[in-house]
Amino acid sequence: MTRDSLRDLQADRVELMAIRHDIHRHPETAFEENRTADIVAAKLTEWGIPVHRGLGKTGVVGTLKGKRDAGRSIGLRADMDALNLQEKNDFAHRSVHDGKMHACGHDGHTTMLLGAARQLSRDPDFAGTVHFIFQPAEEGEAGARVMMEEGLFEKFPCDAVYGMHNMPGIPEGHFAIRPGPMMAASDTWTVTFRGTGGHGAMPHMGTDPVMPAAGFVTATQSIVGRNVSPQHAAVVSVGHIAAGSHGSPNVIPSQVLIRGTARSYTPEDRDLLERRLGELVQGIAAAHGCSAEYDYLRRYPPLVNAPTQTAIAVKAAQTTVDAALVDADAEPLTGAEDFAFMLEKKPGAYILIGNGGRSEDGGCHYVHTPHYDFNDAIILTGAAYWVNLVREELGK
Ligand SMILES: [Zn+2]
Ligand SMILES: [Zn+2]
Repeated sequence: MTRDSLRDLQADRVELMAIRHDIHRHPETAFEENRTADIVAAKLTEWGIPVHRGLGKTGVVGTLKGKRDAGRSIGLRADMDALNLQEKNDFAHRSVHDGKMHACGHDGHTTMLLGAARQLSRDPDFAGTVHFIFQPAEEGEAGARVMMEEGLFEKFPCDAVYGMHNMPGIPEGHFAIRPGPMMAASDTWTVTFRGTGGHGAMPHMGTDPVMPAAGFVTATQSIVGRNVSPQHAAVVSVGHIAAGSHGSPNVIPSQVLIRGTARSYTPEDRDLLERRLGELVQGIAAAHGCSAEYDYLRRYPPLVNAPTQTAIAVKAAQTTVDAALVDADAEPLTGAEDFAFMLEKKPGAYILIGNGGRSEDGGCHYVHTPHYDFNDAIILTGAAYWVNLVREELGK
């Protein structure tokens, strides 16, 4: 029997769009997605899908068993959180909460996964179990990791996990994915150089932490230039420097604080950035008779797609839209994504769905900007991708 998931979902178009607009109008940020979680849980329950709530405070997991037994279990993940940003759109479904906005399209992600749950609950012709994972706090607060720490994969064992994000700039309804590293690790580091400081006219009387600080800033670029393989991409950037006081240019400060970011695409390169930054800090401080403290904070790991699951995702996308619209060798992004935590534990694949062209006049705006909006025209395409993925993964 052949199925056309896109056609089957047409009946749900109006309801899904209304859900999307409702969630967009009521954006909720990290771990406060209570109203959104209520909507998700109510819809899943209405469609006969048992619901578990409370992982990561507001997380919701719906579990649907296929009508054929045995088989594997997979997790499909959507994020529910909004951003602290003032919306500047004036359409009817604009945010009613000052300073909060669905500027990353997680309203659309939640809606697409609900659409898939609706369709699969009507026609659960697959072997195995699907866990619909609705997570809080993707933006900076690692809601995925918190759900895992609270037992997500013990309560809901998954043989594989899948994620999806919309992407402005990729044409509407196209898909993009790649095996291997797809998004960067995003880490933050902090260095403090300490010396005695002293009178600006008598530098020989003490030790000057500005000297190692200046040398260190320059030397950071040798890590990507000389240590990381020329075949790999990585970034080290300084974002903040603080020392001395504006009113005292004749005083050598006793400490210099420097903060920055580090991006990498493999666990090995991530280790390398952390190690080399530390070696430069200590070596350069010692060379100038200063001491130093160094802290490297691992925030989000690199997002690495497993080859087998990526191939399955590509097939599901090619079943959903014309095969020519699926880019199976997309460029990696320097952004970070907390679905990477799940992919550290489970094989899986993360795919991008085009949100439409991006231009000053008419095209959709980029994520995290005040005029952004998720494109309603891709709700059914995204939902159909999820349905086809389940048929592909658990259909045999
Ligand atoms: Zn975002
Ligand atoms: Zn996002």
